[in-house]
Amino acid sequence: MMIRKFISRVLGRKVNGNHGEAAVIAVSKHGVRRDDISGGSRRTVETLQEHGYQAYVVGGAVRDLLAGFTPKDYDVATNATPEQVRHCFRRSRIIGRRFQIVHVMMGSETVEVATFRGHHGEPGHHGGNKAHTDDQGRVLRDNVFGSQKDDAARRDFTVNALYYDPVSETIIDYHNGVADLKQKTLRMIGEPATRYREDPVRMLRAVRLAAKLGLAIAPATGRPIREMADLIGNVPPSRLFDEMLKLLTSGYAVKCVRQLRGEGLHHGLLPLLDVILEQPLGERFVMLALEKTDRRAHDGKPISPGFLFATLLWHEVLTKWEAIKAAGERAIPALFLAMDEVLDVQGEKLAITRRIAADIKDIWALQPRFEQRSGKRPYAVLEQERFKAGYDFLLLRAESGEVPGEIGEWWTRFLNGDNDARAALLLPQAPGEAKKRRRRRKPSGGRPD
Ligand code: ATP
Ligand code: MG
Repeated sequence: MMIRKFISRVLGRKVNGNHGEAAVIAVSKHGVRRDDISGGSRRTVETLQEHGYQAYVVGGAVRDLLAGFTPKDYDVATNATPEQVRHCFRRSRIIGRRFQIVHVMMGSETVEVATFRGHHGEPGHHGGNKAHTDDQGRVLRDNVFGSQKDDAARRDFTVNALYYDPVSETIIDYHNGVADLKQKTLRMIGEPATRYREDPVRMLRAVRLAAKLGLAIAPATGRPIREMADLIGNVPPSRLFDEMLKLLTSGYAVKCVRQLRGEGLHHGLLPLLDVILEQPLGERFVMLALEKTDRRAHDGKPISPGFLFATLLWHEVLTKWEAIKAAGERAIPALFLAMDEVLDVQGEKLAITRRIAADIKDIWALQPRFEQRSGKRPYAVLEQERFKAGYDFLLLRAESGEVPGEIGEWWTRFLNGDNDARAALLLPQAPGEAKKRRRRRKPSGGRPD
């Protein structure tokens, strides 16, 4: 606390008529230049200010620039209402998700503009908050306009509540976020337990942002998480899916997963995380998959959510598949039953979209087909639409030691070979398989060479 106060003094915290008790931090202290932000967000802010409104770049973009990361996208906060914002820009539209925001199109860039939001009614405020929360205290409706100060107070972490004005190149800081960022601390605004109860997703955000930015979660911010983890169960599955996808594709998935374990969140938070964090057999496979995903994110390559979820859940499928086969079902129908069961269990908590579920199933369903390396079948496998994803998945299984490396190498040679090379690679029909299919022994001498 002492150091925090000292840093904020050095940063030039001062009382300012417009901003109440906020610090107004000059560019000489924070170093973010107006040229550092995207052209679209800068023009959006300038236009709003020219129309007489307050407007700032806010949230993740300011935080990322201060921390030396390139922002993914830009959010603007303003005291103009959505209608007023829309009248300032020809190419803009109001979209209503959890709350109304305006999308302003600037060239190829889309800037999200949100009106400052206010209190959603602490008990006693506007006659209490019962109507706006579920019985666990989760905030259901959250679209009351407010002042900039209100807007700052309802953001989650101090480092996420910074407002950057490109015109004056100053940062408005109500909660010592700049100092926290310098000290590499992730700190919840307000009373952490209350804030997690309002929105349990903040627990996952804490872990994700700490891992991405290399911040330590402040003790008081981290402490309630363990006991409150169950509340994640009340969050709508579609929102959890979005958040998990963000976490897993952040480029810091391995770090996030380690941190979740460190926070004691590796059980009960989500079936998916239980799977990732608690399966002894699949751990190597899942960690390999996450390492590769992180590398892809850092290289700026696209990440397929279907592939990712297929890897995370594969060992669940394997376990169920074995059980169903042991109960007497034939191999392939058993696999399909296992796939559906696993996706159903996940779907209760996590809304995996239909398209992604279809991708996941395609990848899984190809796996037994890679074992068939004789006759015409490997050629048919090559023609499958999802071959490449299925093949990458197979290589990962081989690398993790689940299947012999030789199978992966065989498919690599088969994929890259010309017609003759492919024909030479084909294996003789496996005796067991031939017997089952044709109920007679394959004649000797039927080998393809
Ligand atoms: P990133 O975009 O890097 O994933 P972000 O912090 O920008 O991280 P967004 O979901 O884009 O995350 O949110 C933008 C801003 O909105 C945040 O910086 C924060 O100020 C606020 N915010 C987002 N989610 C919450 C939440 N659950 N509770 C309170 N404030 C939130
Ligand atoms: Mg963002």
